[in-house]
Amino acid sequence: MVQKRRSWKNYLYVVTILFFTLGFFNIIFAWLGFACLTLPFILLAKNKRKTWCQGYCPRASLFGVLFHNRSLTGKGGPNWLVRGKAKWFVLIYFLFNLFVLTMSTLMVFMGRREPVESIRFLIAFTLPWDMPQFLNLGIFPDWTMHLSFRMYSMMFTTTVLGLLLAWIFKPRTWCTVCPVNTVSNLILDKTRNEV
Ligand code: SF4
Repeated sequence: MVQKRRSWKNYLYVVTILFFTLGFFNIIFAWLGFACLTLPFILLAKNKRKTWCQGYCPRASLFGVLFHNRSLTGKGGPNWLVRGKAKWFVLIYFLFNLFVLTMSTLMVFMGRREPVESIRFLIAFTLPWDMPQFLNLGIFPDWTMHLSFRMYSMMFTTTVLGLLLAWIFKPRTWCTVCPVNTVSNLILDKTRNEV
């Protein structure tokens, strides 16, 4: 039997686990989430293809490790989800989330509102527990803490939704509606049309 060679890419899921674990030590580590938002587009601009999605996304790696050949139905998502308008709703929700994150952080920065120091699911639902902060890294400005909690919440929400879809359908069903994929496709389409 031919054994498949495992590369470091097989272990990218560890990055996702590490990201959420680090939040329990100090929420400021949630700033690492900005890498997940920017790296796909930096690689897209450099390589003119979805390099991140095709081999480097730690979240997709986690979906694969947990649910490859283990999902409930073993089928792709329903048409309304994977081929319908769902990806546009998810993109609008994501952009709205980014807008709220930016504006609320600005308000905290200007001293017009208190920072929100809790994790929320889908913006509206506050998780009923406080994040333990095992590692004291000193005092950070309120706006940086607010932004950290908002970034962690955004990553938490999309990962939970992705895990749910992976559990029910195929592991990478989330990718069909993931805003990174939708925006990447828009950019690639535009680039091809300009050639
Ligand atoms: S579509 Fe989203 S979740 Fe899927 S690989 Fe790309 S960035 Fe990761």
